[in-house]
Amino acid sequence: MKETKFTSIKIKQLTTKLIKTLTFLSLVQLLIFGVVHFLFPYPKKIHYGQVLYSSNNEVIGATLNNEDKWRLYSSLDEVDPLFIDNILHKEDQHFYYHLGVDPLAIIRAFFNNIYSNKRTSGASTISMQVVRLLEPKERTYYNKIIEMFRAFQLECTYSKKEILEMYINIIPFGGNIEGIKAATVLYLQKNPGILSPAEACMLSIIPNRPTSLALGKQQDLIVSERNKWLERYYQGDLIDENTLESAKVEPINLQRTSIPKIIPHLSRQLTNRFYDEPRIKTYININTQLKTQDLVKKYARRLRSIGINNAAAIIIDNHTREVVSYVGSQDFFDDKFAGQVDGIQAKRSPGSTLKPLIYGIGFDRGFITPKTKILDVPTDFGNYSPLNYDEKFRGYITVEDALGKSLNIPAVATLEEIGVDHFTNKLISAGFNSIAQQKNRLGLSVALGGCGVTLEELTGLYASFGNKGTYSSLRKSTFGKDSANYQIISPESNYMVYEILSNLKRPDLPNNPQNSNNAPNIAWKTGTSYGRKDAWSIGYNKEYTVGVWCGNFNNEGSPDLTGAETATPLLFNIFRTLYPTVNSKKEEFEIPDQLFERLVCSSTGLIPEYFCDHTIEDSYIPTVSLTKKCSHRKLYFINPIESFSYCGKCLPKEGGYKKKFYNNYPEQLVRFYNDEKIPFETPPPHNPKCKYTISGKPPTISSPIDGRTYYILDHNTELELQAITANDVDYIYWYVNDQYVAKVNIESSFFYQFEVGKNKISCTDDKGRTNEIFIFVN
Ligand SMILES: [Zn+2]
Ligand SMILES: [Zn+2]
Repeated sequence: MKETKFTSIKIKQLTTKLIKTLTFLSLVQLLIFGVVHFLFPYPKKIHYGQVLYSSNNEVIGATLNNEDKWRLYSSLDEVDPLFIDNILHKEDQHFYYHLGVDPLAIIRAFFNNIYSNKRTSGASTISMQVVRLLEPKERTYYNKIIEMFRAFQLECTYSKKEILEMYINIIPFGGNIEGIKAATVLYLQKNPGILSPAEACMLSIIPNRPTSLALGKQQDLIVSERNKWLERYYQGDLIDENTLESAKVEPINLQRTSIPKIIPHLSRQLTNRFYDEPRIKTYININTQLKTQDLVKKYARRLRSIGINNAAAIIIDNHTREVVSYVGSQDFFDDKFAGQVDGIQAKRSPGSTLKPLIYGIGFDRGFITPKTKILDVPTDFGNYSPLNYDEKFRGYITVEDALGKSLNIPAVATLEEIGVDHFTNKLISAGFNSIAQQKNRLGLSVALGGCGVTLEELTGLYASFGNKGTYSSLRKSTFGKDSANYQIISPESNYMVYEILSNLKRPDLPNNPQNSNNAPNIAWKTGTSYGRKDAWSIGYNKEYTVGVWCGNFNNEGSPDLTGAETATPLLFNIFRTLYPTVNSKKEEFEIPDQLFERLVCSSTGLIPEYFCDHTIEDSYIPTVSLTKKCSHRKLYFINPIESFSYCGKCLPKEGGYKKKFYNNYPEQLVRFYNDEKIPFETPPPHNPKCKYTISGKPPTISSPIDGRTYYILDHNTELELQAITANDVDYIYWYVNDQYVAKVNIESSFFYQFEVGKNKISCTDDKGRTNEIFIFVN
């Protein structure tokens, strides 16, 4: 009794001591583990190459990782579950129940080693294998202990799912191929998502013997090994009997292929930009991409005969702004003609391709509508006197024609009215980053391509035309940030631009009849840069916007290059590919709510007056578009034989006169008709007996320009003196600094040599009406 008590006290003491010691030891262990874990932490970052996916998740490009391995990331969900089951069954049946080390497997392996006197696998858990694959070490017992510690660490840091995912991404498949993803893409030309049971089995047995079971080489050996394991998986209830039988006879015929390079230019751009992302999802439609690439390649080959070697094209889905095709050059692998250059990102002169936006803004400002007549006459925009592409001037022309024929003077004049700053700010808001960089250097010449923009930026602008004038950034991958929508021009003026650009009666339709007969129903605009270096053609309908550029990356021009002849046929071909059959369904643009039709005078495009004998329909935006009344004719009182006209003061009271309308042209147009010797009916001179001669407009000095500074190179430099006069004037008199210098017939020109400094220039017409200006000469 006494003894028992004593014993029980002793046992109690011992137990307490033992618990204390064990607790202490555990704490020490935990502390040691904590310190070591802190000093040598996991993870070791897994370096993946990058994979690019098409819109339907096919691999369309990939890069090697930083160790030059094809190690491509795949999540567990992306992999066929049978493959995962096979791997777990084969490598680590207790994976979900251990903490990195499987004691049962170790004991089994220990006895196996003694029994067979050689090392067999089996003791290594998946966690330990991950450790070994990430930090390869010589196989010693010491390293094995390190490995176990590391595996335990791994388990403390990651979930089972994450560890399994690491494993399937780093297991070796021979050569520089690692992970299930790279293996299936390179050997089976597909994603690991759907594998046949035979494939799932084959892929599960390679990683342990990547050298002896070399994929694509030891086919027979692989078949026999596979069938052995199929039996085991059948035993393990992973597959049923039917599956086993059919899998065993499935032939293995593997060929290592290279990673697809379907969008090399875009791949390069996206992998550089999102260098940390193992997976990049694009919106590329493989079918369209391949067809477009083929068209561009073949087309560029044809252009070689006119000295053009490069071409690029991009296709946007207007509903989503997704880039569905991206062809940066005629051929990425064309070393002879710098195929690696990305023509979609190259900054080049846009030629006339920005003109639609200029007129669109003009429609919104209200000072023009499609039928408004504007001047196409030689004009000096302050030391800037552009010519048209054919060096001809058309006098008076509708906005519609000016844009359709891509005339330069009307576009520059419209831009001048809008303001260069306003215009460039619009471009910047519409994604033209290149314009933001050049903004301070840009002038009116930007209307004709005096700036550098990219094909991507231009196509983005036209995609806005395809979306009621609303800009939104283009999407090349799911990582791209969406910009806020920006209304560049109103839906109404956007529609007016569309109507002009979709009109088939255009001079920039390619000459080839095959092209025009079968022209797709699109709106498009061409552009040819100065020096004939760049041919552009950008087109859109409601669904797609396509941008095409042709030229030379080395910046050489070609005398035969034009936007219409060189780039448009390719644009049309690409559109035809998007709509392969005549009956392919196309969406139509709706007419915006606030766009209406009205009758205007055909001579001016203004609201008709009673004397306007001919009217036409024109689109307009109520409360925005101009409501100016037409004044294209002016009523004159003339004598019966039409030899002179009367004013209100000298009109004979007894009658004997008649009324007649004469054209009332803008002064610049009258001057142009005179210069070009274009006949037009003018009212007869004023009644010579009239005492009230000083009436009507004084001359306007149009050259030089009031207040401007002129730079002359030497003393022989002369400036032209020019004045716009009323219709009844024959002669004008020039004075410089109040000194008479010349009497000039209004139809002839006159030049004068100015002194340096401030100069006063006066002009008096033969009716005594005077005007004056000041200029500075340096
Ligand atoms: Zn009229
Ligand atoms: Zn009179």
